[in-house]
Amino acid sequence: MLPKVSVHRFSCAPFTNVENYRRLVGGDVIDEIEALAHALKGARVCHINSTGFGGGVAELLARLVPLARALGINADWRLIQGSPEFFRVTKAFHNALQGSAYSLSESDKSIYLQVNRESARLLDDSYDVFVVHDPQPAAFRAAVGERGAKWIWRCHIDTSEPNREVAAFLLPFLELHDVAVFTMREFALPGLDARRTAFIAPAIDPLSTKNMELPDALCLEVIANAGLDTRRPRVVQVSRFDPWKDPLGVIDAYRTARREVPGLQLSLVGSIAGDDPEGWQLLARVQEETAGDDDIYVFTNLAGVGSMEVNAFQRAADVVIQKSVREGFGLVVSEAFWKGKPLVAGRAGGIPMQFPEGHERYLISSNEELAARVVELIGDPAQRKAFGAAAREHVRERFLLPRLLRDELRLIHSVLTGGERRAPPPAAPGAPPKR
Ligand code: UDP
Repeated sequence: MLPKVSVHRFSCAPFTNVENYRRLVGGDVIDEIEALAHALKGARVCHINSTGFGGGVAELLARLVPLARALGINADWRLIQGSPEFFRVTKAFHNALQGSAYSLSESDKSIYLQVNRESARLLDDSYDVFVVHDPQPAAFRAAVGERGAKWIWRCHIDTSEPNREVAAFLLPFLELHDVAVFTMREFALPGLDARRTAFIAPAIDPLSTKNMELPDALCLEVIANAGLDTRRPRVVQVSRFDPWKDPLGVIDAYRTARREVPGLQLSLVGSIAGDDPEGWQLLARVQEETAGDDDIYVFTNLAGVGSMEVNAFQRAADVVIQKSVREGFGLVVSEAFWKGKPLVAGRAGGIPMQFPEGHERYLISSNEELAARVVELIGDPAQRKAFGAAAREHVRERFLLPRLLRDELRLIHSVLTGGERRAPPPAAPGAPPKR
């Protein structure tokens, strides 16, 4: 298959308006966004990633790009279309940057570089800023050579303890970017030039169908139609089928909790991303593990469980679970908290920063702890309510889309006005740079 880059057209209509957020986040942040957008009017910004659906990056871009366009910025979203082999390699890179063991072969390097080069060649010259998300398109910058645009590498994962071989291979490509952005300081890739890093946490869109207010009766109807008993307690985890999200650990903890909470139901709502070949295998394993267990429900995006259903499942849960063992940010955490839900989650990546102060005991490190906290919360409605209310306020202040948009516009403005140091051009266009 010929690798190519294509525009993700669905996202490009400016169907939203930043003023709609004023009542939720207050005036200061909206005023600053409008001032920055005025200064950046007409700027051509191109986001590049490798999947249009499934996972947090696609979720973010689907909201950010239209909002930026509505503000007069010419934002585009382009996708790499690579071969299955390319996605096998990039998924391995993704895991390796999060610390998995991996033996990097010459063939992996060449598949990765070939798709990056072929794809980058198809980019037009009309952009002022490229924002490259995660490792998949990280060699674009090297491949296009010096054409005057600014380049930002936006890393969404925790790269603090990477597999050394993969990190050493990618570092020279990453260092060609004008800025590298991580979710938090602790995630930064060791060895990357620290003078060119920035730290910006992701955010959720409170006005999306995933997060907008829904009436309780509607949420209950959605889960009842899906087969759940609305009179019995329920917990849910919403996640890609990914080993780092530990769905098998969730099942194990749920079965322990069910011994003390008879009738407890578990829903695993999971998507499979277009760039995630491992997901299919894990889904099959989860289905095998839960076969014949009438109180565990497994739903996927492939069976029509979309944003509205995710919203309803989160709202209709008594307790939300996110048992990640490794995590980038974990948008699902803010999604549940914004809905005023109590949540028990793995102490991983960006999850702790989303927790309101005083509720850290619901950050867990084992299946047993998860089961114990779920049992505790199911038995204590007042605690569920207090935790949920504190969590919603925490998210309102820190993790809603306008704050993210403001931070990104600040960064783009500073990059375009020379606030950031330029990287030297690569030695030869298309060639891996020398360190
Ligand atoms: N998601 C979804 N349907 C699913 C599973 C996940 O819409 O079946 C969404 C979820 O609501 C969240 C995103 O996918 O918005 C996952 O982002 P997160 O940062 O939690 O994890 P990632 O998948 O990026 O590791």
